[in-house]
Parts: sequence; C-alpha cells; structure tokens
Amino acid sequence: MESFDVVVVGAGPAGSTAARFAAEGGATTLLVDRRPELGHPVQCGEFLPAAHELTDLFADPESIHASFEIPPESVLRSTRTMACIAPTGRRYEFPLDGYTVSRRAFDKLLALRAEGAGAELRHPCGITGVRGTVIDFARGPPVQAKVIVAADGPISTVGRSVGFQVPRRMYRMITATAQGRFPDEIALYFGRLAPGGYAWAIPRADDANVGLGVAHLPRGSTLGGLLDEFAAEQGFGAASERTQWWVPLGPPPESARRGPVLFVGDAANLVMATNGGGIPTAILSGYHAGQVAAEHVRNGLSLDTYDRRWKEHLFAPLARAHRIKWLGDQVVEHDLLLALGMRYIGAGGLDAMMRLKWPGRLGGNA
Ligand SMILES: Cc1cc2nc3c(=O)[nH]c(=O)nc-3n(C[C@H](O)[C@H](O)[C@H](O)COP(=O)(O)OP(=O)(O)OC[C@H]3O[C@@H](n4cnc5c(N)ncnc54)[C@H](O)[C@@H]3O)c2cc1C
Repeated sequence: MESFDVVVVGAGPAGSTAARFAAEGGATTLLVDRRPELGHPVQCGEFLPAAHELTDLFADPESIHASFEIPPESVLRSTRTMACIAPTGRRYEFPLDGYTVSRRAFDKLLALRAEGAGAELRHPCGITGVRGTVIDFARGPPVQAKVIVAADGPISTVGRSVGFQVPRRMYRMITATAQGRFPDEIALYFGRLAPGGYAWAIPRADDANVGLGVAHLPRGSTLGGLLDEFAAEQGFGAASERTQWWVPLGPPPESARRGPVLFVGDAANLVMATNGGGIPTAILSGYHAGQVAAEHVRNGLSLDTYDRRWKEHLFAPLARAHRIKWLGDQVVEHDLLLALGMRYIGAGGLDAMMRLKWPGRLGGNA
C-alpha cells in the first residue's frame, strides 16, 4: 500500500497550511481534496483581518507571523473600517484593518505553497473514510499514513469515521455577488433578516460579496428569500452566483485529536463565534498540526502536543467568544431589544465583541 508520513484531507486554508508546515518539517506529505477546482465554488464572505489585528485576538505573534501571510495576488481590496448596522439603521463604526481576498485564488495559492514546500497535491480526490491509519478514497486504492490531518470542513467525513463528535451549533449561510462600487468598509447588518446572525456587504475590487448567516430559518422562509429581501432593502440589485454552506459556531473542543488524527479549522469547530470568521483559526490550527505532525514523525514528539499548542492561544478567546455569543443570542431575536442592546454597548462594545472580548459595559475583558 502507498504510504506517507502525513496525509492531509482537505485543501482549504487549514489543510494547505498543515501540509505546508508538515512538508517543511521534513515529513512526506500528501494533500488531497475532493474539489475539481480548489476554492470554488466560493462559500465565504472573503474577509480577513490584517495580521496585526489578529495579534490582538490571539496573543501569539510568533505563530501569526510564521503562518498568516496573505498571498498578495489574492487581495481584492483593503479596508480600514467595520460598520455594524442596527435594525433601526443606526450605524456603529470602528477601525479594523483587513482585506477582501478572492477565495478562489487564495485557496489555490495556499495549496501551491504547500506544493512548493514539497507536499504532493491530488484533486479531485475525495475520501470516503478512515480506518486506523488507512485512508479510503472514492476512487483508487487506499493510502497509509503515520499522521492524518482532518481539514475537511464542517461536515467532516474523517470526523464521522473516527467518532470525533463535538457539540456544534451549525449556522446556515448564503453568499452571493452584488454588482456596483461599494465603500471601503465591512458592513454587517443585524436584525430580523438574519436571525441569530447577520447579513453582510464586503467590498471587492468592482463588486461586493453579500450574504447572510442564520442560526435558524424563520417558518416559511428560505435563505435565498432572505437574501432577496436584504438585497432589495439595501438596493444591491440581483445577487448572483449564490452558494449555501454551513459554519460551525463552537464551542472549541477540549481535544482536537483522536488517535493518529489531528483536527484543524472547521473540522475541529474552531470558528470565532462572535464574528463568524474561521480562516485565521484554520490557518493557525493548521500551522500547529503540520509542525507537530512533522516533529512526531521525525523525533517521536507526542501528538498530544498539538492540543497543548493550539489551546495555549486559541482556546480561551474562542471559548469566551462562544459565551458572549450565547449571551447575545438571548436578545438578538427581537429587533427592538437588539437595537437597544447595540446602543447600550455602543461602537466600543461591538468592536470588543468582534475581537472576541466582552464589551466594556458588560464587564470588560473577563
Ligand atoms: C457563507 C460563509 C461566509 C464566510 N465568511 C467568512 C469570512 O468572511 N471570513 C472568515 O474568516 N471566515 C468566513 N467563513 C468561514 C470560513 O469560510 C471557514 O471557517 C474556513 O473556510 C475554514 O477553513 P477549513 O480549511 O477548515 O475548511 P474549508 O475551507 O471548508 O475546506 C475544507 C476542504 O475540505 C474538502 N473536503 C471536504 N470533504 C472532503 C472529502 N471527503 N475528501 C476530500 N476533501 C474534502 C473541501 O472540498 C474543502 O476544500 C464563512 C463561511 C461561510 C459558509
């Protein structure tokens, strides 16, 4: 049977980062993805905070510096402001440096970096399950690995086959393209059109990524219908190129390891509950998993080290964001209360929440 030191399942941001650092660490590495075209169709708002903003969320500048390098060719727009818009239309603005990236380019470029480091990339190449250290594919013979990295997203086939069942609250999301020139800000709209979540308009070079995410669908509604209403209200015109997908909003697991399998990114539930972003945590967890996998193969480092490393800087902020989100959900369903709540915590409080911190008026950064 063909064998590798490390097999990474899924070439999204988590998997390509894991494969890159496993290969850089000297492990023979195979990276597989079921998609014919990596990064497509786009199932993402495509917003990324700048690296210096991330160090405020996760106090781990060393790992962020080593792993979080946005390929410049994938950047469509730089933004400096986020605006949270209440159901009443009141705007709360605060500075936040970031980028809109083309996920279609971004995912391919990260996979190219993994290949550049020596990983072998195969796609379309879907897996059907994992038995111990053996990976089964939809087509072709199985492959053996010393370490398996599960980077196959929120509906993780690897997770299902090895019994990695963590509590997840799955949010339904829809994303689309709206034509027109949009201002240099990330606009998040809260209220009845996105129950438990928000709708967004994220500017790209000549158009915008628009969409919404919901905790549940109101009776008789569809995601597409809610998006139509949102687009009509905001005067965006027809929102085309629609795709729907899921985001797993935490909490972070106590352990992201099952035997020889290390879980990363969405497959491990590592999404920031208060802002819905998962790319930074996918990259950071992929970085730690790739490094630990390589050190395990080379020097016999215990795979438990992966849990220790990702938890050191990611666990507390992610768990805190999950608690804040839970509290917010108690009021978020009613537009009037939501508007009052947003007014009470103000722009500073919303800024803090986006940074996974308690709003000052609700107890500060506890
Ligand atoms: C609509 C929407 C908007 C979002 N907006 C943002 C945003 O603006 N900013 C942000 O930071 N986050 C955003 N997120 C979250 C973000 O997209 C994810 O957290 C991030 O993509 C997770 O990366 P990942 O590598 O863990 O998983 P994914 O990016 O989901 O990659 C998983 C990969 O695994 C592959 N795969 C799955 N199953 C198999 C299999 N059986 N065999 C082989 N390959 C397989 C898939 O093809 C895919 O390429 C959004 C999510 C959604 C749904």
